[in-house]
Amino acid sequence: MPSVINDSCIKCGTCASICPVSAMHDAGSQLVIDPDTCIDCGACIAECPQGAICNDAEASAEAVKFNAEQAAVSPNAND
Ligand code: SF4
Ligand code: SF4
Repeated sequence: MPSVINDSCIKCGTCASICPVSAMHDAGSQLVIDPDTCIDCGACIAECPQGAICNDAEASAEAVKFNAEQAAVSPNAND
């Protein structure tokens, strides 16, 4: 059950700075989470100032798809 970022993200970078497995990727207009890397620790959900992150069971199908697709083709946000 990976976490998912929606389009409320303002790219503040907080989630990328605390994720223990560097799961965030820079998709241009927002960050996204690689579902294959996220270990579902939940830390980023509590820290996002925009409330833009939730568990994939609570995210829209569009956001789940966007995160997975963009994470595969965009650079890691910690690179
Ligand atoms: S903490 Fe929230 S607003 Fe900041 S980059 Fe992460 S998802 Fe975007
Ligand atoms: S839930 Fe944990 S492992 Fe997954 S993206 Fe957020 S901080 Fe990283």
